Amino acid sequence: MLDCELKNGWLQFLEFVKAKCARAEFDNWIDPIQLVSCTEQEVVLEVPNIFVQEYLLDNYSGILREFVPLRSNGEPALAFQITAPVKSSAPPKVEKPAPESENHTDLRLNPLYRFEHFIEGPSNQFVKSAAFGVAAKPGKTYNPLFIHGGVGLGKTHLLHGIGHYVRENHKKLKIHAITTEAFINDIIDALRNKSLDRMKRFYRSLDLLLVDDIQFLQNRQNFEEEFCNTFETLIHQNKQIVITSDKPPSQLKLSERVVARMEWGLVAHMGVPDLETRVAIIKHKAENKNLCLTSQVAFFIAEHIYNNVRQLEGAINRLCAYVRFQNADLTIDTVERVLNELVQSLPQKKITVESIIQSVAQAFEVRVSDLRGESRQKEIAVARQVAMYLAKETIEDSLAKIASSFGGKTHSTLLHAWKKITERMQSDEMLKKQIQMVQRNLEIA
Ligand code: ADP
Ligand code: MG
Repeated sequence: MLDCELKNGWLQFLEFVKAKCARAEFDNWIDPIQLVSCTEQEVVLEVPNIFVQEYLLDNYSGILREFVPLRSNGEPALAFQITAPVKSSAPPKVEKPAPESENHTDLRLNPLYRFEHFIEGPSNQFVKSAAFGVAAKPGKTYNPLFIHGGVGLGKTHLLHGIGHYVRENHKKLKIHAITTEAFINDIIDALRNKSLDRMKRFYRSLDLLLVDDIQFLQNRQNFEEEFCNTFETLIHQNKQIVITSDKPPSQLKLSERVVARMEWGLVAHMGVPDLETRVAIIKHKAENKNLCLTSQVAFFIAEHIYNNVRQLEGAINRLCAYVRFQNADLTIDTVERVLNELVQSLPQKKITVESIIQSVAQAFEVRVSDLRGESRQKEIAVARQVAMYLAKETIEDSLAKIASSFGGKTHSTLLHAWKKITERMQSDEMLKKQIQMVQRNLEIA
């Protein structure tokens, strides 16, 4: 192979990925990668940090095999260099540590929500890397970072994780962590006390603003504008903003202006942890509480509580209380009894079109009614096709009957959806992972 052919391989890969993934994702993760050299044996790439390297390998190893030389084990022959930090010629300044009260006023971070206590798995690795990237270089990587996902999956945990890390590693930076409701209350108080200017000055002087649960800005038009102005002022000064939400920006009922701003940076999804990750979380939480759990018990809990980490914690708390008061060992029988209330109805074993629609709606963050509806909006249409694909794959019934469960669709629509998703899964690793996750959740449900 000629050198330029090899180079073309990398360029073709870039074009391929550009067409496949969201613009923000490409700009944030792929575009910063530089081609250093290529031989028949190896392609050398320069990446700004280890997260970009991990992101590339985690998400595109399979596809890269088509474009770059391979090692004897079949893996893409890639080598990485991390961009050297720019050295300043000025002598290092001796920083006076900023007094706590000056920079971290009212910084109420949950002491347990640190990166070290966040267990990673396939469903949250991407968003954890992004959060860590932002904490390592606030304002310099993805801005804003928008984290969305279902309830109890660790969004606030990561948000506060960023806060802790920045507080400890960038001592000069002025940080503020706030829920959207508290932000609104701040504005109301400021209006009442005629101190709006002071409040604005405070927010606009921050280096890092962590905003939790932005969905509460919906239907609060009067406050949207103030939020947006604060947001723009900070972003234009390269000050870091991190936002969490239960839905992606496009599904929030907010003005186009606000939605567009939220999509400026990186939108990262926090998924439902798979079985292994749930087991790891349970073990970690139990250890912290000095609760001895056998692997069998940890698996049992993880199999029965599957879509909310907060509920897993609830289970551990109950078990701790039980052990303390009864002074008894934890067998599967006792665990089953203690958890019975929590796991209210024992999960249904039979997979139905209904359970598929529910699971897909949850994983893809769309409404159940959307999956039965006609909307052509991209996220909804893909989710609907995925649900149809899974229904055709899993349920033994006539295609016409399955299709009619999707708000009266025809069997040819179902077949078309199945074909489309089958094709997309060949090249779209992200989609494939999402579908596998829904399948796993259905199997254990
Ligand atoms: P959300 O903000 O998404 O509703 P939280 O961040 O409040 O969820 O998380 C709920 C609970 O679950 C918290 O106590 C958090 O520490 C825990 N948790 C969630 N995800 C993880 C994880 N991956 N590893 C460890 N703990 C987690
Ligand atoms: Mg939260």
